[in-house]
Amino acid sequence: MLGSPGANPRLGVVGWPVGHSRSPAIHNAALMALGLSAWRYQLLPVPPELFSETVKALPAAGFRGVNVTIPHKQAALALADEATVTARAIGAANTLTFDERGAIRAENTDAPALIGALPFDVVGATALVLGAGGSARAAVWALGDAGAREVRVWNRTAQRARRLCDELGATPTREGAPADLLVNCTSVGLEPTTPTFEQLPVSAEQLSRYGCLVDLVYVDGGTPLALAARARGVPVIDGLELLVGQGALSFELFTGLAAPIIEMRAASRRA
Ligand code: NAP
Repeated sequence: MLGSPGANPRLGVVGWPVGHSRSPAIHNAALMALGLSAWRYQLLPVPPELFSETVKALPAAGFRGVNVTIPHKQAALALADEATVTARAIGAANTLTFDERGAIRAENTDAPALIGALPFDVVGATALVLGAGGSARAAVWALGDAGAREVRVWNRTAQRARRLCDELGATPTREGAPADLLVNCTSVGLEPTTPTFEQLPVSAEQLSRYGCLVDLVYVDGGTPLALAARARGVPVIDGLELLVGQGALSFELFTGLAAPIIEMRAASRRA
């Protein structure tokens, strides 16, 4: 055992690789802002073959909960003793909390963070989601659950978009049709050597056909997609804002306290 539960509560982010994560900076700033000086939030690099046994050992080592990132989100749901409706519907969890008996509860805060970050009410709105991976699943489910009138899904591999739509009740598309909201859930923009987004079905000129862009990808200085949207006056919610939003919801589950969002946002931009 690494420590007695309760004395120095521990939190962390489990991923592989995870060294690039800004979550420790965001959460430690929140702990400091609330005067929780005995708490620590740390990186937990864990390869897939060790995920299950490592997570099961965390409660006895003093952990109250962890965030979970690539590639463990589905395994996190599978491992949990209990899961929320949201996590089950999406098929993935990004937050695990541990009770005093060590029971593991799974939640997905990516979905409510997306809805919470939008500058308008999504009820009756239309959306085009780009991508069909894990984050697209969360986005499509969140938009449908929040009352979007129509959610279309485009993906490079069309078959994956069709499967996602069948499961979650959206409409597959092969083109970048106009919508109130454009959500980029592909990893296009992550690679700094690619200065364009020509892999996506929307050109720079067409971006003004969207009321808002949510780009899950975050790079310093902005992704080419986000920069092109901003240049056309389209409001942009970037990946860092979503990271802070999902982190704030996780923080509240870990500590039971309201998250100090201003300090968390500032720490995310400094990290
Ligand atoms: P994922 O499950 O691996 O899915 C990747 C998606 O990107 C797939 O739809 C894939 O299409 C598409 N894609 C990859 N390369 C492409 C290319 N060159 N052209 C067109 N499409 C391409 O990943 P994920 O978990 O959904 O995450 C997607 C992105 O969101 C990542 O960059 C991740 O860092 C970011 N993210 C951010 C947050 C946040 O809080 N800000 C949270 C989660 C994820 P195929 O199906 O055709 O391969």
